[in-house]
Amino acid sequence: MDKIQMKTPLVEMDGDEMTRIIWKMIKDILLTPYIDLKTEYYDLGLECRNETDDQVTIDAANANKKYGVAVKCATITPNAARMDEYHLKEMWKSPNGTIRAMLDGTVFRAPILVKGITPFVPGWKQPITIARHAYGDVYKNTEMKVPAGCKAELVVTAPDGTETRELIHEYKGDGVVQGIHNLDDSIGSFARACFNYALDTHQDIWFATKDTISKQYDHRFKDIFSEIYQAEYAERFAKAGIEYFYTLIDDAVARVMRSEGGFIWACKNYDGDVMSDMVATAFGSLGLMTSVLVSPDGVYEYEAAHGTVQRHYYKYLKGERTSTNSMATIFAWTGALRKRGELDHLPDLMQFADHLEAASIATIEDGKMTGDLASLSSLPNIEVTDTETFLLEIKNRLEERLKNKE
Ligand code: NAP
Ligand code: MG
Repeated sequence: MDKIQMKTPLVEMDGDEMTRIIWKMIKDILLTPYIDLKTEYYDLGLECRNETDDQVTIDAANANKKYGVAVKCATITPNAARMDEYHLKEMWKSPNGTIRAMLDGTVFRAPILVKGITPFVPGWKQPITIARHAYGDVYKNTEMKVPAGCKAELVVTAPDGTETRELIHEYKGDGVVQGIHNLDDSIGSFARACFNYALDTHQDIWFATKDTISKQYDHRFKDIFSEIYQAEYAERFAKAGIEYFYTLIDDAVARVMRSEGGFIWACKNYDGDVMSDMVATAFGSLGLMTSVLVSPDGVYEYEAAHGTVQRHYYKYLKGERTSTNSMATIFAWTGALRKRGELDHLPDLMQFADHLEAASIATIEDGKMTGDLASLSSLPNIEVTDTETFLLEIKNRLEERLKNKE
C-alpha cells in the first residue's frame, strides 16, 4: 500500500512524561506506517523550554499561526516541585496559556463517546462540547479585605482625569471587595470562535450568562454575541440549518441536564472552568476528553484535555506495567490530520483519520481497554491492556479497515 501524501506540514508540539512516551508510540505504530507524515517539529518538553528560555513555545505558536494546524502533546506546567526536579532557570509559564494568548484562541472540549462507557447522565446520547472564554473576570481580579467602617467605591478615570464613581458598599462590619473586568475585543473574539466552530462542526451553539442580575457586565456579553451573530453569522447559520440560542445560565444548566447532547455550550470564564469539569466527569474518563484551541481567524491546535499522567510515567521509568489511555492523544492527531486534509483537499488523509478513530472506538467496544475505562465499562468481556498493547489492538483493527477499503 502506498503511503498517504501530505502537502503542508502539521506543526508538531512534543511534550512531557507519559504522554511523551505515548506520543512516539502513536506515531510509530499508528501513523508513520501509513502516512508520509510531514511535520514541523517543536520540542515543548520542559528541558527544551528551559534551555531555550521558553523561546521554543513562542516559535511553535508562530508556526501554528503560519501553517494553521498544530497537534500538541501534554506538557508540564512548572510549580515549585518541578523547579527542583528539572533544575529550571525560571518557573516558566504554562505553554497552553502562552499559545492561547498568542492565538487569541478559545478552547473547545468534547468527550469521545464509546458504547459500553455510559455517561452518568443517562439521557446524554451525543457529546456536549464546552467552549470556555479564556480572558478576564475573576481570573484577572483585584480583591481586598475591607475593615468595618470603610466605604468601597467603583471609580473609572477618563484620560482627561474626570472620574465616574459608584458606591459599592458602606461596611458596618468587616468584609471583602473584588473588582473584575473584561474587554469588548476579547468577548468578540470569543463569540466569533464559537460561531465559526459551530459552523465547522455543524452543531447548535448555546450561550448563557446571568444578565438579569448583572445588567451591565453580563448584558454586554449577551449584546456582543447578538450583534456579531446578526451581522456576520445569522444567514450562514440558517443555510447550515443550525441555531444560536441565548438563555440564562440557570436555565442552560437545567436544559443541558435534560438534553441528549450534540451541541456546543459557550461559557463565560468561570462557568466554563466549573462546567467543563462537571461535563467531563459525567461523560467518563479524562482519557476520553479531547480539546481544540481555535483562533477567531481559523487557526487550530488539537490536544488531549488531560495532563502528562505523571504517576504512570514514574511507574514506566521503574519498568513497571502501565495502562495509560491514549485515546484523547490519538484523537488530537486525527483531528489535526483531518483539518489538514480539509484545508489541503486531501480526501485520503481525511478518510484515514476517520478509519483510525473508528478502529480506536471499535477496540474499546470489543472489550480491549486501559484500566481507567475498565472501571467505568458495563461490557461483559473486558480485557485490561497495557499502554502499548492497546495501540497494537487498534492497529489490527485499523489494518482490517484499510484492507477492506482497497
Ligand atoms: P493528569 O496528567 O491529567 O492526571 C491526573 C490523573 O488522571 C492521573 O494520575 C490518572 O489517574 C488520570 N489520567 C489522566 N489522564 C489519563 C490517561 N490518559 N490514562 C489514564 N489515566 C489518566 O493531571 P495531573 O497529574 O494533575 O498533572 C500532571 C502534569 O500535567 C502536571 O505537570 C500538569 O502541569 C500537567 N498538565 C498539562 C496539561 C496540558 O498540557 N494540557 C493539562 C493538565 C495538566 P490514576 O493515577 O489514578 O491512574
Ligand atoms: Mg477547573
